[in-house]
Amino acid sequence: MKDICVIGGGVVGISCALALQAEGYQVTVLDPGPTGEGASWASCGCIAVGEIVPLSQPKMLMQVPGWLMDPEAPLALRPSSLPGLLPWFTRFLMNATPQKMRAIASDLAWLTFRATDDFKAQLADIGQPDLLVERPVLKLFDDERDKASMGAAFDLARALGCRIDDISGAEAKEIEPAIAGDFKYACVLQDWSYVTNPVRLVQCLTKVFQTRGGALVSQAAVGFEREGASVSAVMTSAGERITADAFVLAAGTSARDLSRKLGVPLPIAGLAGYSTVLPHSQVDLRHTLFYPKGGFGMTPYEDGLAVAGTVEFVGHGAAPNWQRAKILVQRAQRVLPGLGTDQGHERMGRRPFTPDTRPIIGRPKGLANMHFATGHGQLGLTLGATTARLIADQIAGRTTPSKLAAFSPDRFLTS
Ligand SMILES: Cc1cc2nc3c(=O)[nH]c(=O)nc-3n(C[C@H](O)[C@H](O)[C@H](O)COP(=O)(O)OP(=O)(O)OC[C@H]3O[C@@H](n4cnc5c(N)ncnc54)[C@H](O)[C@@H]3O)c2cc1C
Repeated sequence: MKDICVIGGGVVGISCALALQAEGYQVTVLDPGPTGEGASWASCGCIAVGEIVPLSQPKMLMQVPGWLMDPEAPLALRPSSLPGLLPWFTRFLMNATPQKMRAIASDLAWLTFRATDDFKAQLADIGQPDLLVERPVLKLFDDERDKASMGAAFDLARALGCRIDDISGAEAKEIEPAIAGDFKYACVLQDWSYVTNPVRLVQCLTKVFQTRGGALVSQAAVGFEREGASVSAVMTSAGERITADAFVLAAGTSARDLSRKLGVPLPIAGLAGYSTVLPHSQVDLRHTLFYPKGGFGMTPYEDGLAVAGTVEFVGHGAAPNWQRAKILVQRAQRVLPGLGTDQGHERMGRRPFTPDTRPIIGRPKGLANMHFATGHGQLGLTLGATTARLIADQIAGRTTPSKLAAFSPDRFLTS
């Protein structure tokens, strides 16, 4: 039996570990923990099937000065982080052309359109189908101008098959009576769904993995041992040496530094997002709501209402700016006037973003037994189970779809 070591037990890593275990491999997961507190614990919880339009968009070049000047804007760039981020950011802006935007969206759709089925199969396998609520998302717009700001993205998503229905603000209020009465427009993003508790999701996946004989080692990977084109061992923070026949690097934003140690540097930035879970929200929501103008969404979790979002371009290891979480809650009161905000739990997560918004799934050339599963940006929760299936296919030696090449780490080695 092959031994496999998965580095990182966030939603992507633990999903890969379970899928590999199901293939009959002996799997070890290396993660310093705490379980479930990677980027997904700050997430909005959506299985975001239609979130396929990349973050890099043509209009962005003009917007960068504004991001630098307003630390509280939905999209912000911390000036002190700019020098360190510059190489990544330059690549990011190079993807902001209409042609690249279309190509990226089409590739992402290929992944996300199968995400719900993969995720449902995963939840059925671990006996937790109730963690998923299959209900569309509502997006809310103040006025015509606000709605028009999403026009190009919606056109592209629709052209690729996403179902987006336009409704009025009044109709949105009929669906969710708690929302303010002055939204002019809204839309319904069909096919989306949400997870009722992303932290519990990762904890449940981990528990089942361990119950089935998987080993969880609560240490960080710090380096590797190589023998020619193969990795023979991963070195841990406690000085241990874990050998395996194959490895999966799924350490979220830490994959950036670890991949350098492998000689295959991945351009991954940790784009910070914030959330506050409000246990006493006093509003009864059934759907996830998005307010694009404020850059956030709200999802009714089982332990409170999560108000989550915004994108902050910051360097690795930069301290959180908790003011952003507080502002999100204030803005949420514009959407839900009756919102109770007492005793909120603030969280920050770093989304592992590649400059082209595509995740990195696959084996780099020159390394025979190292597989990457990282860089999922805004889509890690959505694509955990799908990524796991693709990685398991690859490690088991099954033919993988040619489309997977779009997500290969090799694209960064040549560009
Ligand atoms: C505000 C916000 C909203 C979001 N909303 C959504 C959403 O609605 N839908 C969606 O699909 N996604 C969403 N995301 C994105 C999603 O959370 C991430 O894409 C996802 O968590 C990435 O999963 P991951 O397993 O790759 O990384 P992580 O969840 O960050 O997990 C990485 C794991 O690696 C471990 N690790 C780190 N360093 C090492 C090391 N050296 N050795 C071993 N282990 C290590 C960490 O402890 C962690 O457990 C959101 C994110 C944020 C911040």
